[in-house]
Amino acid sequence: MELGELRIDPVVDGVGRFVPTKTFMGTSDEDWSVHQDLLGTDGKLEFVMGGFLIRGLGHTTLVDLGLGVDTLMGITGGSFLDNLTALEVSTDDVTDVVFTHLHRDHIGWAVTNGEPTFAHATYRASQADVDYFIRDQQASRAELATLDIIGTHIEAWSEGTTTNLVPGIDQFGAPGHTPGSSVIVLSSKDQRAMLLGDVVHCPVQLLDEEWAGLFDVDPVLARATRTALAREMEGDPTLLAGAHFPGMHFGRLIAGAGRRQWTV
Ligand SMILES: [Zn+2]
Repeated sequence: MELGELRIDPVVDGVGRFVPTKTFMGTSDEDWSVHQDLLGTDGKLEFVMGGFLIRGLGHTTLVDLGLGVDTLMGITGGSFLDNLTALEVSTDDVTDVVFTHLHRDHIGWAVTNGEPTFAHATYRASQADVDYFIRDQQASRAELATLDIIGTHIEAWSEGTTTNLVPGIDQFGAPGHTPGSSVIVLSSKDQRAMLLGDVVHCPVQLLDEEWAGLFDVDPVLARATRTALAREMEGDPTLLAGAHFPGMHFGRLIAGAGRRQWTV
C-alpha cells in the first residue's frame, strides 16, 4: 500500500483460524451474524501474527516483529524473515524497529541466536512498557528471554513526546492493553494511517463498544481507550489496521445510520 511517500507492507509470521465465539468469550453466533464479512467462508476468524514494513523518507522500519519460532494460541510463527526477504529487505537493511507494546507476539524476531536480529536498527518502545515489562518484571519468561538481550538497546519514548520517532512515523499513547500500548501514526503528504497494535484485536471491537478485549492488562482502561479511538475515527479517512486483523488489511470506520461500518 502506498501512503504518500511511504510504502507499507504487512509481514506475516503465522496465521490461525478460530471459531469466533471461542476467541471472544461471551459472544454468541447471533452477535457474529451481522459481522459475517469479517469471517471466512468457513465461519472462522483469521488471526494473524506479524508486523508492518514501512519504507520511505530514508528509513526502513518494522512496526512489531511477530511471534518468532514459537507457538502461541495455536498459531505457529516462523515465516517473518522469509516474508521480509520476499519484499527484498534484509535484516541489515532495517534502520528502525518500533514496538506497539512488548508482548511476546510482537517482539518475537527481535533476537536471533542471542543477538539483536536487526543489527543496524534502533529498537524503540514506550517508556511505560519498558518500565512495566522490564523494571517492574511483569514480562513472561518468553518475553524476558528477549528483553534481557534487547532491553538495554531500546530507545524509549515518553508519553507526550511530540517529535517523530522516524520521519513520517509518530505515536500516541493508548494504554490499557498494556500500560504503554501505543498507536503508531504513519503520515505523508496529506495521507494518514494508524497501526493500532493490540488496542483493537478485531475490527468488530470498533463497531460495538460493549465487546471485550483480549489479554488486556487493565480491561476497563483498555475499553475506554478503544471507545474513545472508535468515536474519534468514525467517519475519518485515516486507514486503520490492528496487529492481528484478518489479512492484516487496513480499513476505515464509516459513520452509518445507527451503526458504524468497517470497510477495507
Ligand atoms: Zn498481540
